Amino acid sequence: MTKKQKKMLTRIILTTVMLIAWNFVPVEGFPRLGLYLIAYLVIGYDILRKAGQGILNGRMFDENFLMAVATIGAFALAVYDRSGDYNEAIAVMLFYQIGELFQSYAVGKSRKNISALMDIRPDYANIEKDGKLEQVDPDEVAIGTVIVVQPGEKVPIDGIVRQGESTLNTSALTGESLPRDVKEGDEIISGCINMTGVLRIETTKEFGESTVSKILELVENSSSRKSRSEAFISKFARVYTPAVCYSALALAFLPPLVRLAFLGMAPQWEDWIYRALTFLVISCPCALVISIPLSFFAGIGGASREGILVKGSNYLETLSEARYVVFDKTGTLTKGVFEVSAVHHNDMDQAKLLEYAALAECASSHPISKSLQRAYGKDIDRSRVTDIEEIGGQGIMAKVDGISVAAGNDKLMKRLGMAYIDCHSVGTIIHMAVDGHYAGHIVISDVVKPHAKEAMEALKKAGVKKTVMLTGDAKRVAQQVASELGIDEVHSELLPGDKVEQVEKLLAAKPEKEKLAFVGDGINDAPVLSRADIGIAMGAMGSDAAIEAADVVLMDDDPMQIAKAIRISRKCIGIVYQNIVFALVIKFGCLALGALGVANMWFAIFADVGVMVIAVLNAIRALNVHKL
Ligand code: ADP
Ligand code: MG
Repeated sequence: MTKKQKKMLTRIILTTVMLIAWNFVPVEGFPRLGLYLIAYLVIGYDILRKAGQGILNGRMFDENFLMAVATIGAFALAVYDRSGDYNEAIAVMLFYQIGELFQSYAVGKSRKNISALMDIRPDYANIEKDGKLEQVDPDEVAIGTVIVVQPGEKVPIDGIVRQGESTLNTSALTGESLPRDVKEGDEIISGCINMTGVLRIETTKEFGESTVSKILELVENSSSRKSRSEAFISKFARVYTPAVCYSALALAFLPPLVRLAFLGMAPQWEDWIYRALTFLVISCPCALVISIPLSFFAGIGGASREGILVKGSNYLETLSEARYVVFDKTGTLTKGVFEVSAVHHNDMDQAKLLEYAALAECASSHPISKSLQRAYGKDIDRSRVTDIEEIGGQGIMAKVDGISVAAGNDKLMKRLGMAYIDCHSVGTIIHMAVDGHYAGHIVISDVVKPHAKEAMEALKKAGVKKTVMLTGDAKRVAQQVASELGIDEVHSELLPGDKVEQVEKLLAAKPEKEKLAFVGDGINDAPVLSRADIGIAMGAMGSDAAIEAADVVLMDDDPMQIAKAIRISRKCIGIVYQNIVFALVIKFGCLALGALGVANMWFAIFADVGVMVIAVLNAIRALNVHKL
């Protein structure tokens, strides 16, 4: 409990004690009124102040105003009819405050749950100076500095391991506790926990650009993107509160006036004013106003603990309506770790061909480039390479030792006007042109990710109607992968721009209400990520282009996470709708009872606080998504 909450609890207890005690104090008239006023002010002074401020600022129709008017009215009625029964006004305020306390506690608690995830924020980085470790603020570490991470510490900044071997725990990032081994030369991202060995890491980014900072920023900003449900609630409140205030006013004055003027009956002023005040207490829209954002907050928090980062509640809402899922192939459904399965060469030596390929690819972040560099296996001297040009979906052109080299698919060869030899091996073919002559091709092959097939089944179970794969790779490879995984529709040999076009076609063909999600790895597909109804980037542990372009980021590169993300969003949206319907039905029911004079103020406050407590408890369920 925070200090503020403790103070509120003290006020609540104090008021309860006073309410009980005053029943035994035998005073009448003004002294009695005075005693009860003290109790009233103890519990309600802040509400009265806020209501006053609201009126001064011209924003008078809020719940503070409703509570203040209703309780002051109840006091006034008790004074007017000399009943001396002030319990009601105070009790209404008391229960309202109990409800507020409960809600602030619940919100605080779910915030804490989310900051537990945010445990990835590193407090310091170690720098070695004269044989001693010095702790510095990660913000002050320049790119290229060597930092030391000891076992048990968080990796504070992205970098490359220069010395040491260790196992990393990535569970804070991915929600899964699969340990990862790293050794010299490996890239390492911040936020993981170093478990076994001491690592010396050369930083490749500033702290502000590192994975940890990106993720924290993303989660912290997520609540500022509002969903349609939330927009509905604020619009609703803007109309609703003034409407009930005027209705209450009408309820207080119209029936008595009608009775007096037209029916010739006694006006029963007190009765109708009391009904109007009860009506005001009932009308408090707290349950809705509080529980909807809280549900989204909990849903986003629960998802991030599973390694699924959602950039805003609007995206969570859209995700829950996803009926079409479109995939990129390389790096998304396949591992993107190609093995060289054959090298077919003309007169150039095989090793030489591979060397040219690896060197020309030295600056690309495409999985193919990484694989070729790995197959080459030797250190790459970047100074030998100049004039690099990468053509998305086609390949690379560069100068190696001053000789022009092109490595890419048949599209690239056609573009260069180069005659090439077709290859009949199944696999991705990288044609090579060196110094203006066709030099042969390298056949590389990729494998599908371990859970990719199950992931497609899980998606179908989660209500997805159609799965589509888009790839820049050759038709044969594409079709093989698609049939292996059971994908409904395939389009191959696409340039990055064609992928956008395909997605636009799919978008146009489907009903507006059914949403299309695109899943990619951020390489050659960033425009598609932003064009789809919802862009899901996979394997953020590797590329930060993905974090930028996507609406939902999966830390892990396991395709099973997509169906999980959809299930989480469904659960969260389900809870939001339950709360909206539940709160509105009870509210309007109680309002009717209040207007008819069946419900008194006690009933009203119990209904209000009760609905709120139930709605908040229901909202918190959205945090609980581990078993989904
Ligand atoms: P996918 O849609 O499967 O993710 P991309 O659109 O990234 O594939 O690439 C499509 C094709 O373009 C690859 O199969 C390859 O033939 C060629 N290509 C793209 N980038 C490169 C590169 N850096 N080196 C060689 N070929 C490349
Ligand atoms: Mg790709």
